[in-house]
Amino acid sequence: MSMLRCYQVAEFGKPLALAEKPLPEPTGRQVLVKVERCGVCHSDLHIWDGYFDLGGGRKVVAANNGALLPLTPGHEIVGTVVAAGPEAHTAKPGQRRLVFPWIGCGTCPPCRDGNEHICAGAQQAIGIFTDGGYASHVLVPDEKYLLDMGSLDPALAATYACSGLTAYSALKKLGRLPPDHDLLIVGAGGVGLNAVALAKVMTGVAPIVADLDPAKRTAAMQLGAKAAIDPREADAGKTLFKTTGGVMAAVDFAGSDASFAFAYAALRKGGHLVTVGLLGGQATISIGLHVMKGLRISGSYVGSLIELQELLQLARQTALPALPITTAPLDQATASLEKLKAGQVIGRIVLEA
Ligand SMILES: [Zn+2]
Ligand SMILES: [Zn+2]
Repeated sequence: MSMLRCYQVAEFGKPLALAEKPLPEPTGRQVLVKVERCGVCHSDLHIWDGYFDLGGGRKVVAANNGALLPLTPGHEIVGTVVAAGPEAHTAKPGQRRLVFPWIGCGTCPPCRDGNEHICAGAQQAIGIFTDGGYASHVLVPDEKYLLDMGSLDPALAATYACSGLTAYSALKKLGRLPPDHDLLIVGAGGVGLNAVALAKVMTGVAPIVADLDPAKRTAAMQLGAKAAIDPREADAGKTLFKTTGGVMAAVDFAGSDASFAFAYAALRKGGHLVTVGLLGGQATISIGLHVMKGLRISGSYVGSLIELQELLQLARQTALPALPITTAPLDQATASLEKLKAGQVIGRIVLEA
């Protein structure tokens, strides 16, 4: 009998543990998916470390305070349907699908609005609260979370489930910008680079990218950035403001004190900052200046099922530049997390099961 192999966080901060269990039998509308690709995301690091930093010394302990351990991480999953429950109608064995992982309780107000990704009840996100894709198989609770990815490259499509979706949802909040306005993207990790790839087609503007790492700035230029700057250079913020007259829109994909301050200070009057990164920063702003400049700050956390459908449609219709992807075998999961933690990853590592 075939078994489910998975790499799990058994103890926070320790190497992932290989486990084997019997293959689950899908019931109801559940679908069993054989994992082909699974992206390694920054959120996996938070789960591995055991906490999400809220800034000011406040932390959220991952995996429901550790109660969910051992937990298999991995939420950027492409795989093939192997079995579906008796009440599933569209999922058929052999279909290659992208998994929408941001599953909520289904009954709270945000879930009822179709925003399961910001569920206010008992969240069920795959790889965060339930076993994910660092595995040979994953059990998806409903066939509606499986998306047809057409002929897209499976490793790239996998990254759309989180880093692509997060970038898409953030840029969608900005809308289309007039062509003579500037867009600033702070942070060119996996999510930031996916945003660089999407920025021109979604906002109409090629972005200016700020990142500390010269290799990430180079990657951003290759994906179509208009300019790439080092925010730590003396007067980088002043120079940016002077040359652009202030940017109309900015997205902070880092979320540190410094990245937020840099992005916020770059806004012109009427500007809009979308904050995405979860590095645990805090900010103090002058309410008076915020009012008089007519500024706007929006938070954006991953994205909805409908937004992932929109992103896939966009990717299937448009030749989007692809972010750099390194593949690694599934048994390199721990080493891949270590590389990501050390800041050595340009774009994404995608595990191959
Ligand atoms: Zn909910
Ligand atoms: Zn993620």
